[in-house]
Amino acid sequence: MADKLMRKFLVAAGKPLSLASFPTDDTLGWDKDSAKGELAKTISLMSFEQHRLMAEAKQSLLIVLQGRDASGKDGLVRHVMTGMNPAGVQVTSFKVPAGTERMHDYLWRCHAACPAKGEVGVWNRSHYEDILVPRVKNLVDDETWSRRYRHIRDFEHMLVDEGTKVIKFYLHVSHEVQRQRLQKRIDNPESSWKHDPSDLTDRRIWPLYENAYEDVMRETSRPYAPWYVVPADVKWSRDLIVAKIILNALQAMDPQVPAPDDSLKGITVE
Ligand code: AMP
Ligand code: MG
Repeated sequence: MADKLMRKFLVAAGKPLSLASFPTDDTLGWDKDSAKGELAKTISLMSFEQHRLMAEAKQSLLIVLQGRDASGKDGLVRHVMTGMNPAGVQVTSFKVPAGTERMHDYLWRCHAACPAKGEVGVWNRSHYEDILVPRVKNLVDDETWSRRYRHIRDFEHMLVDEGTKVIKFYLHVSHEVQRQRLQKRIDNPESSWKHDPSDLTDRRIWPLYENAYEDVMRETSRPYAPWYVVPADVKWSRDLIVAKIILNALQAMDPQVPAPDDSLKGITVE
């Protein structure tokens, strides 16, 4: 089941990609109530594997979340990642680089946020912003942002070689559902604090982001660090799809709890 899911939403390496060909509202024939039960089951299996990952302390998992404003990156962190032991999960939200970050190369802050051995790192936005934003906003020349594909492929390959599994999700929300969610945020006094005027500016250049995302995923989806385009118009199926793919990744890592130490045999705690 998870294998089928992964194939369905996987971005093929190096092939031209059209986001329009990926669904935004596919719920895979699931219904909301049973999906909730299935999500709880999936999260508890994730948590079991994460416990073994911490015990083994040899591998790391890096989960990259990208997507437009209101595509559900924060919701996913809240509903899916919180099922794991927070002692072994580090969530990093990348904002517009500021202060010391601006005084370093763009990968500096990312490298510092990579999960240690035994840990899961969740990135809410990532180094991919350093291609997308400069490109659509013309902040640097074309050569500068386009050579970053190569930097990022090499960086991720290095992480993988050194024991980190890397999986990347693009939460694929439609133009109309984004409109509804941004409007709801503004209208609801409980959520209007989340409104950021730049969300509306970015919405106006939707097609520029669409092209930039398509190129980013074509250039950086590789078997060692794949991209998945997850339908994100429906929150409960979005959460379940991502959770199942993460569980599959953890199971493939197959972390091993260290064997009991023979010298412990016969010790009695008094
Ligand atoms: P949000 O995640 O929507 O709360 O806001 C974060 C904002 O920071 C978004 O508008 C991102 O596009 C922006 N951002 C994150 N990383 C970068 C970056 N490396 N360069 C430029 N903008 C960035
Ligand atoms: Mg925003």
